[in-house]
Amino acid sequence: MTIDLKNAKALVTGGTRGIGRGIVLGLAAAGADVITCYRQESEAVVSLRNELKEIGGEHHVLRADVEQPEEIARLLTEAEQRFGALDVVVNNAGVISHIPFGELALEEWRRVLDTNLTASFQVIQRALPLLGDGASIINIGSRGAAAGIPLRAHYTAAKAALIGMTRSLAKELGPQGIRVNVLALGVIETEALEAMPAEQREALRARYSEKTSLGRLGTPAEVAGAVQFLASDLSRYVTGETINVDGGI
Ligand code: NDP
Repeated sequence: MTIDLKNAKALVTGGTRGIGRGIVLGLAAAGADVITCYRQESEAVVSLRNELKEIGGEHHVLRADVEQPEEIARLLTEAEQRFGALDVVVNNAGVISHIPFGELALEEWRRVLDTNLTASFQVIQRALPLLGDGASIINIGSRGAAAGIPLRAHYTAAKAALIGMTRSLAKELGPQGIRVNVLALGVIETEALEAMPAEQREALRARYSEKTSLGRLGTPAEVAGAVQFLASDLSRYVTGETINVDGGI
């Protein structure tokens, strides 16, 4: 089934690799024009630009580090100049690290919160003047926020806070017709997983085959499906929600 997002203008942070890439391609395939950003030049940037060219439409893949507030400001200025307004904002860019709590440095705590939480606050705040009635903000969260994950207190703290911010914003922006939701993801197959040592990767796959009702990990395209739904008019009465996309953990 395809959702029609023709004429929609979307901003996706961190769209060159992994889940963000799947989201960008999914939105573009549904007919939306997309502006996305990345942190560092890579093959992934070139290949995303090529894929978007094949899909067609107006798309922009720009370098902007969302850990830096001035780069977020620049990204939103670009969005305004190129699109005039936005219908969809997806806060996807995220970083993770695995550190025992006793060894977690303040600097690392801040880095992880800056990218996973503060960047979303800044992106939404800067995007507000470009959003109107019917706009949809989608924050990419994690099932780990509710469940807790050892060695990731900083990451889960950021993702849990994203839920609180989303609920408050849904109430604050609802009267303007702007919806705000979270997608809480389970484990999704990305290049990061491919880069793991084979043994570790297979152990993870086996663990999640048991843990999930569907018996497997998810794919970026499956996350993109949930994003398309929240971006579209089909979800026009859904706001302030956290929707699990986790294969039924
Ligand atoms: P990846 O590391 O595979 O990709 C991250 C993307 O975000 C890349 O395009 C990267 O660009 C970009 N990015 C990272 N930091 C910044 C930054 N500071 N500024 C701009 N762009 C940035 O991540 P995933 O696809 O695995 O994760 C995407 C989201 O999904 C994250 O929010 C993550 O927390 C969440 N999530 C992922 C799960 C999973 O199983 N993978 C599970 C639960 C949640 P560059 O290449 O330049 O670094």
